[in-house]
Amino acid sequence: MRRTTAERFWAKVDRSGDCWLWTAGVWKSRGGYGKFQAGSSRANARVVYAHRQAWELTNGAIPEGAIVRHRCDNPPCVNPDHLVLGDQTDNLRDMQRRGRGRTGLTSHFRGVSWDRGRQKWQAHAYHNGTTKALGRFDSEEEAAVIVNKYYKEFVL
Ligand SMILES: [Zn+2]
Repeated sequence: MRRTTAERFWAKVDRSGDCWLWTAGVWKSRGGYGKFQAGSSRANARVVYAHRQAWELTNGAIPEGAIVRHRCDNPPCVNPDHLVLGDQTDNLRDMQRRGRGRTGLTSHFRGVSWDRGRQKWQAHAYHNGTTKALGRFDSEEEAAVIVNKYYKEFVL
């Protein structure tokens, strides 16, 4: 018998602690969030963030444009009690707050690098073997958002 999405999903979660940890693949280049292969057939298969899937399995569809944030600041956590809806502005504020005091200038986001000359974060994407510049930003997170938007094959 075919397992439902919910069964497949929760089988990959360690619920022994307060934070429920995603035990399958994580998106290292995107802050360590869990990733989950959603969709019941090859035709509608897509890779989604595990914490977003957890929120949807618990609460229903995520409103368009909304993001799912972690109250616990623990990216691999998928405990619905630790997830809240927010918008991109909330998320950037969280990340900036957390990033304060960071000494290194190596981005942990894919496609983001520090432009020392201009003292800004540079966003770039790889397309057909070439690098496409997507602009420079004051914050690493703004640059990462632009890169994420560019890679439309991923569901955010
Ligand atoms: Zn948590």
